[in-house]
Amino acid sequence: MNYAACIKEVSRALGFDACGVARAHRVDDVAAARYARWLAQGRNGCMEWAARHCDLRDDPQGLLPGVHSVIVVAMNYYPARFQPREAPQFAYYAYGRDYHEVVKQRLWQLAAAIEQMAPCQTRVCVDSAPIRERYWAQQAGLGFIGLNNALILPGKGSYYFLGVILTTLSLDPDAPCTQSCGECHACIQACPAGALRGDGAVDARRCLSCLTIEHRGDLPQWVSGVLGNRVFGCDECQKCCPHNRHARPTTIAELQPTDDFLSLTRERIAQMDQAEFSRLFSHSAVKRAKLAGLQRNLKAGSLPSD
Ligand code: SF4
Ligand code: SF4
Repeated sequence: MNYAACIKEVSRALGFDACGVARAHRVDDVAAARYARWLAQGRNGCMEWAARHCDLRDDPQGLLPGVHSVIVVAMNYYPARFQPREAPQFAYYAYGRDYHEVVKQRLWQLAAAIEQMAPCQTRVCVDSAPIRERYWAQQAGLGFIGLNNALILPGKGSYYFLGVILTTLSLDPDAPCTQSCGECHACIQACPAGALRGDGAVDARRCLSCLTIEHRGDLPQWVSGVLGNRVFGCDECQKCCPHNRHARPTTIAELQPTDDFLSLTRERIAQMDQAEFSRLFSHSAVKRAKLAGLQRNLKAGSLPSD
């Protein structure tokens, strides 16, 4: 029985757009050294969690002893409808229901199907375990890591959530993706905050996505000059990417924005109380920034100029 082919078929039925398999191994020395350098330079900024569990991040054996295969899936989140330009802007990934819920629930189903195919153990990881999702996605042939640090699926773009299942089952691996950005540097020029230096790593201390979502307390003063009307995240380095020119709306209903979300205004966010924030965002990735964070970002930014 070709288990890998069966797993890919089940993943498609569950709504995933891509699925690949890599043989489990230690992360290669080049990737491990690049990550260690990024940390040593303090470029993880307020993402202190990125410096924890580096031993597990470098070797999935620590996450699932006896792991043979790393299965990586991708789910399109590109919305079919968008906020008006003058509205306080949210990153596309936060338009719909929290991806932790949407992706994880389907990964559990995929993991259960794998365990029914053959006796094995599995471990599901969606942004919750210290694992290098993009590294494994590249190893599993799904795409390559762009200079904007996103996983780019050739011909499909980068508006994709990633999920990983580790398994002790030995599966036929896919060939790693060998594409790259080539001569393109569009995202480095498009980044409004100078967070990309061309080495494929993001400087979280300057990244508006990290600052608007992860940072607690006051924003650095310089942010006001470049924030515009973003209140949660930033998509500039993806919007400009030529691989996203042909992005197609997701078919996953939970990832579509509601009318209520699309009608959000500056005034409504400024006056929002905790009860309304919870009603709107308790099943959304936006809850990570908390109401205080959204209102702080709103105050720090400005309206778009014509
Ligand atoms: S998310 Fe925005 S600020 Fe961060 S690297 Fe991309 S373009 Fe720059
Ligand atoms: S915009 Fe260009 S350089 Fe940046 S990730 Fe896309 S292809 Fe790579």
